Amino acid sequence: PPHISFTPTTTPVLNPPRLPDTFLQEAEREAPMLQAIRQLVAEGETGAFNMYDLEVVRSQLHRFRRNLPRVHPFYAMKCNPDERIVELLASEGANFDCASKAEIGIALRSGASADRIIFANPCKQPSHVAYAAASGVDISTFDGADELFKIHALQPNARLVFRVRVDDSHAVCTMSQKYGAPLAELPELLALATSLQLKVVGVSYHVGSGSMSAEPFADAVRTARAAFDLAAHHGHEMSVLDIGGGFPGTIAAESGKGDEPLLVFADQGAHKPPSFEEIAEVLRPALDEHFPASSGVKIIAEPGRYMVHGCSNLVTNIIGRKYSHRATGKERPMYFVNDGLYGSFNCVLYDHAAPSPLPLFSSADAAQRELDVSSYSDCSIWGSTCDGLDCISKEARLPPLSVGDWIRWPNMGAYTSAAGSTFNGMERPTNYYL
Ligand code: PLP
Repeated sequence: PPHISFTPTTTPVLNPPRLPDTFLQEAEREAPMLQAIRQLVAEGETGAFNMYDLEVVRSQLHRFRRNLPRVHPFYAMKCNPDERIVELLASEGANFDCASKAEIGIALRSGASADRIIFANPCKQPSHVAYAAASGVDISTFDGADELFKIHALQPNARLVFRVRVDDSHAVCTMSQKYGAPLAELPELLALATSLQLKVVGVSYHVGSGSMSAEPFADAVRTARAAFDLAAHHGHEMSVLDIGGGFPGTIAAESGKGDEPLLVFADQGAHKPPSFEEIAEVLRPALDEHFPASSGVKIIAEPGRYMVHGCSNLVTNIIGRKYSHRATGKERPMYFVNDGLYGSFNCVLYDHAAPSPLPLFSSADAAQRELDVSSYSDCSIWGSTCDGLDCISKEARLPPLSVGDWIRWPNMGAYTSAAGSTFNGMERPTNYYL
């Protein structure tokens, strides 16, 4: 690629950054990914791109099944509807949580049959309900009377799942301000469903996305049990429990549970989320106690972030460099890259994310230079649109970089490309797959 080199005008501050303890372990796991990225760069790629490792998705699915063998995973496609990911999950026998007509279309085209899809949007567009009905997707969620009237008009044979409100106060992204009815509303909604001759078959909830505690997962099972009991009291036997999403996206280290790295949130500092195994350890007994296999209740889940968070490295090229803090003598590089807040980094705004930049050199001694943390200094990283808001990171640490150099961003698989735009005419990154 055209590589424009500038001589740095400042001496970098020698204050080594703290890299995650797991860095070396991660580097080993990422070796094939890095090799593929370096090859693309060497072949002349200049645009931003995602390098997907679909093996990560497959192993997350297997990890899910190992830890929660009684729970059927329905991948929440909103998180990343990439067709290769969806096809892989479909071929592995996973099911799908779709929020719209377009997502249902992707799931069906990937080879999943309609009975492997739940339309898990409690407030659906009427034309999308009609499409679901025509496609044979007959199970969907609701949390209010008007949704029942809508479904009565458009899909009277649907099997309905009541979305109950649960405590999501431990989650980074909450949902209960918008979705989930209080348990107390269930009898009235069941009566309405009965009068409309609609079938209510189960209960769903979502503990919030990016939960920082395992306990809400068990608390929510108890709330669901109460909903089942209340329904039974009103003469309704239910048979589906949907435990939603909210599982962390961190990848299992070989050593097992409890070694997840810190997650750093732009507005909430660093936290250690529970590992998937820790959540499963709390969930399994709660499910066994309240919904034992003998109850005959089918248990499903809607993991989104969990499946894809770790499957992509976004790779961005530095297209510009300036310096801030010149007047104080503490100059800091400002790197401009060819993606931004209106593209993949919308996660900074919508998902409370603080993506971690890592340098990516293409030279023979690249790995050595990348690991030489003594050369790292404070800098900021900016997106490519003309909006002043488009700042990806105000406080990053990187070695001195030039225009034409590359920055890679691990763990960019969830809630990134799915909501990216082409604002200012900026292209979205190209997707490559290992
Ligand atoms: N299910 C529903 C209904 C959702 O709204 C979401 C996320 O918004 C998910 C599942 C996926 O959540 P997560 O990515 O936290 O697993």
